[in-house]
Amino acid sequence: MINIAIDGYAGCGKSTTAQRVARELGYVYIDTGAMYRAMTLYLLENNIPYDEDNDALKEHLGKIYLEFSEADECGNREIMLNDEKVESRIRTPEVSAAVSPVSTIVTVRRLLVAQQKRMASRKGFVMDGRDIGTVVLPEAELKVFMSADMDIRVDRRRQELEAKGIDVTVINPGFVETDLTAKNDFPMPFLMKVDEAGDKIAEYCLQAKAETHTECA
Ligand code: C5P
Repeated sequence: MINIAIDGYAGCGKSTTAQRVARELGYVYIDTGAMYRAMTLYLLENNIPYDEDNDALKEHLGKIYLEFSEADECGNREIMLNDEKVESRIRTPEVSAAVSPVSTIVTVRRLLVAQQKRMASRKGFVMDGRDIGTVVLPEAELKVFMSADMDIRVDRRRQELEAKGIDVTVINPGFVETDLTAKNDFPMPFLMKVDEAGDKIAEYCLQAKAETHTECA
């Protein structure tokens, strides 16, 4: 088995692709965004201010335990916060509005990155996110960087946010476009359509397995 890191710009279909690859290969998909969201939910529900220099925050970080539930019959796992399934509570507009500032806090990132590295140490994981190939899984055997036309990315992200009940014009009129123009230094191994990407990655992995006769899935 190997680990697969899917990086890329916002709105390119990273999580859709990562889930599909995991399903095709029988790997475990780790939704790192859900971990940042669950952390944000905890801070909001406990009225903890989420700025960097904050003793309450540092004290509470040690009380937050995140893990994923066992897979259901479709292979889906739910994020659990201190042993409670919180999937339905982490997609609210309140959490969505606060998750970005929370995810910039260095102590939060350090904690979650360490947890993600620990989870993936057993191999057979697919993770997506902007820091996955560079910070979380720099040693991943397969790294993919996804990009797409800006129009498509803006449209996808807007639809995603609207599907979650978020009125992007109310939260921040420039949010969608600003989020999408975040700078990255990552190399771009290849570019392809989102609906083809999952198949291609799985195909690549299965081919590598056949060539090396090692366990890949
Ligand atoms: O993927 P999702 O939209 O659920 O991620 C929520 C937020 O968590 C992102 O907008 C980003 O601020 C943060 N995040 C992060 N690093 C990751 C995954 C998510 O900072 N690897």
